[in-house]
Amino acid sequence: MSARPLLMIPGPIEISDAVADAVAERPRAHTAPDFVAAYGRALDGMAQIWRAPEGAVPFAVPGSGTLAMETAASNLIDPGDAVVVASTGYFGDRMAEMLRRRGATVTLVQAPTVGDVPDVAAVREALAATGAKALFATHVDTSTGVRIDPVPLAAAARDAGALSVFDGVCATAAEAFDMAALGADVYLTASQKAIGLPPGMALWVASARALATRAALTSPPPMSIDWQPWQPVMEAYRAGKPSYFSTPATTLGWALAVGTTEILAGDADPAKAMELRWAAHRRTALGFRAAWAAMGLRLLPVRDEVTAHTLSALWLPDGVDAPRLLPEVRNRGAIIAGGLHPAVRERTFRVGHMGVVTGRPDALRLTVSAVAGGLAACGVSVDEAAALNAFDAAFQSA
Ligand SMILES: *Cc1c(COP(=O)(O)O)cnc(C)c1O
Repeated sequence: MSARPLLMIPGPIEISDAVADAVAERPRAHTAPDFVAAYGRALDGMAQIWRAPEGAVPFAVPGSGTLAMETAASNLIDPGDAVVVASTGYFGDRMAEMLRRRGATVTLVQAPTVGDVPDVAAVREALAATGAKALFATHVDTSTGVRIDPVPLAAAARDAGALSVFDGVCATAAEAFDMAALGADVYLTASQKAIGLPPGMALWVASARALATRAALTSPPPMSIDWQPWQPVMEAYRAGKPSYFSTPATTLGWALAVGTTEILAGDADPAKAMELRWAAHRRTALGFRAAWAAMGLRLLPVRDEVTAHTLSALWLPDGVDAPRLLPEVRNRGAIIAGGLHPAVRERTFRVGHMGVVTGRPDALRLTVSAVAGGLAACGVSVDEAAALNAFDAAFQSA
């Protein structure tokens, strides 16, 4: 995959050779016929990966996950609107702050403890009590490794007549999500997470209802992040025609056609291909969970049902800190991440496991060995062979 140590953080992630080759090509004009075709294919691929409902529009624009979040806040919400944020960590709290800056009245519904999810009944109550225009939630919060179940939250929003917006930056294309079946209104991500590209693109699908909400805003968003001038561009490319509002990231757009094709390659039926893709991430996560348990490590998420398949957020063993552990692991071939959530930053570390590595047990086993060896170098007694055996058994049976 590459000469440097394996990149096992929760984004950016390892990319496939085909995506790397696509990124290495010379830039194309945004009007070049081969680019137009590729960008259109990439957007069609997004619609399949997202399971976008009828009338929804996929967007791929230059930017980050944070920019994708910002577009949702500023295209759906007018100053003075009430919103509910169901937060499971750092990125949910960021969403709440963005919405406050947009002038929204934010009701934050938090989990009882870091590592858990908010109570759905409390979310329903907050939606009803505030007459909220929208519910915002993070599918997988990368600071806690917690995955919320989007099904009851999307239903709660629908029942309350509110829009539902899901931050899928650490989940999209890896965790089960069916935008059409959920009736969700926005599902957003960034190129460097489970989509498997380098950083630089903000990606989202907006439902017809979300687009109508933008059309009815009284306070339009800043032009560069306004959905309205971008929408006809996306529609033109999908129809095989070039169009311009602001220059798209043509190199990443070219690579996105390759990346989305790979994600959907598991089966001729896109729905089946996505089931396989989600299963590969689940199998990888279960393999790692077994290895962590064999090393005596504990996950930050409090229960299996709220534990993400895209990364592991782990408590550091007593007496070990991340500034010591991370270089030891890196020296053994894998780059992992420290903690992020302010409440547990010093006491946790994180290992990302999304994208192409889920089909590379050699890379996953190398990561298990690197963490085991790193912990041993920090004075923790771990049995690397037992951890590898536990990984193999769980990975093969999942
Ligand atoms: C990474 C991430 C973001 C932010 O994405 P950037 O590209 O770093 O701005 C937002 N939400 C979640 C859940 C993330 O994992």
